[in-house]
Amino acid sequence: MTKTKHIVIIGGGFCGTMTATNLIRGAKGPLKITVVNSGAPFNLGVAYNTYSATHLLNVAAGNMSVFPEDMMHFTNWVKSKDEYSEFETDLLSKTFLPRNLFGKYVQSVWESTLASMSNHIEFSLVDDYVSDLELAENNTVKVTLKSGEPLTADYAVLATGNSLPRNPQIANMDYYKSSTYYRNPWTVESVTKLNPDDDVLIVGNGLTMVDTVIGLIEHGFKNKIYSVSTNGFGVLAHRHFGLSYTGLVKELENRYELQRLVSIVNKHIKKVRKLGVSAGPVIDSLRPYSHKIWQAFTLEEKKQFINRFRYMWGVARHRLPVFIYDIIENLRLEGQLIVHQGKLVDIIEKGNQVHVTFHNAKTHTNETLIVQRVINCTGPETSIYKTLNPLLRQLADRGILSADPLELGVNTDISTYNIIDNKGKKLPQIFTLGTNLKGSLWETIAVPELRVQCKEVSNVLLKVCEETK
Ligand SMILES: Cc1cc2nc3c(=O)[nH]c(=O)nc-3n(C[C@H](O)[C@H](O)[C@H](O)COP(=O)(O)OP(=O)(O)OC[C@H]3O[C@@H](n4cnc5c(N)ncnc54)[C@H](O)[C@@H]3O)c2cc1C
Repeated sequence: MTKTKHIVIIGGGFCGTMTATNLIRGAKGPLKITVVNSGAPFNLGVAYNTYSATHLLNVAAGNMSVFPEDMMHFTNWVKSKDEYSEFETDLLSKTFLPRNLFGKYVQSVWESTLASMSNHIEFSLVDDYVSDLELAENNTVKVTLKSGEPLTADYAVLATGNSLPRNPQIANMDYYKSSTYYRNPWTVESVTKLNPDDDVLIVGNGLTMVDTVIGLIEHGFKNKIYSVSTNGFGVLAHRHFGLSYTGLVKELENRYELQRLVSIVNKHIKKVRKLGVSAGPVIDSLRPYSHKIWQAFTLEEKKQFINRFRYMWGVARHRLPVFIYDIIENLRLEGQLIVHQGKLVDIIEKGNQVHVTFHNAKTHTNETLIVQRVINCTGPETSIYKTLNPLLRQLADRGILSADPLELGVNTDISTYNIIDNKGKKLPQIFTLGTNLKGSLWETIAVPELRVQCKEVSNVLLKVCEETK
């Protein structure tokens, strides 16, 4: 008698949920699937379980389907809701809808998947945290849960997603133990329970800064919000959304040397500006090529990109819906939001004040801000050696996981999604996807990439389960 294969998925954010969904929908025979996620039922991670309805998707609805083969799936789901039924489908597909609504959509896809699940499939959702994982006898994987319960599976998928941001380097690292410091910017606690006279410092100046400012204002915050970030580029709006541009790609000719690429991109940005068009459509035209480009770069080029262009690229790629951009710009013009380009030097608590010293990149002097709260919006930690995720740290310590030279993610064979250990050996029992692939793919954060990975990982798993039964 053949044994039913068991797949354990670690993490129930977007990637965990959609990998399970694709497995259930694609399985032709018996299969056992377990998803382990703390805060079950699926909490959909930090992006789609947000505390504010004004936290909008930064990708238009028409590109947010969870199924790569059915691009209008999300838009049609939205249209079927009473609240949105009066709007034309085409209009809906071009709008930036609330992230919470997208969370409800993923949940509804999940519920309908479960409702139509075949009897051959045994599914369980475990509300727990995976603290360790090891390769065991008979090519199995032994998973240790925080609760102490053992779990053995044939395959494990690390869908561990976004780690908390790194604490920026300052002289007094002890400050980070203070109750005035919020390392997790994605919870409502970071923007609530402030006193009427308090001022706030946000470290970082990207999309999470924007979410945090919106959250503070929605909770009635009326005082100063400072933002300090090393790049100081600010945020950009989706100004010419929907305009497509092909000139740049035609000139690429499958040659992706960094310097050549930079000069071609600059040339095309200059060209479209003559027509009053922003850089947005030029940058967006590179999106389908970003994995190829990253893979073609030499290590030296990757380093140069990280050092010189990483922030510029982030700002240009991850733009804001105009409506949100206008809120942020108005707060800046009114003087409530004050953005500095600079580097933190030190943070010291004095009574109920937090004194933040930073080196101002414009004035080349050290300046001190006095605030009552510091919120870290510098973005998820990518290094498996520095992450607060104990599972990844543990696996990295034991050499089961290894990092790419730039510590952007987990070494993985991206043709099969199997991880590669620190001896360079591919581990056929362990898979990963999502942000863990940043070292291999660079752009591996948004739904347009993640939905494809969820589909491909589940296809590979279904194939190996079939072949080894
Ligand atoms: C604030 C924010 C906004 C975003 N907005 C957009 C957007 O508008 N459009 C877009 O396309 N993309 C957006 N993204 C990017 C992307 O879609 C998300 O990052 C996506 O949620 C990633 O899904 P994930 O499952 O990989 O990770 P996560 O959503 O982070 O989920 C990972 C899950 O795994 C769990 N987990 C981790 N380790 C363990 C363990 N050891 N044991 C058990 N459980 C574990 C975590 O608790 C979490 O629930 C956004 C990202 C962020 C952070």
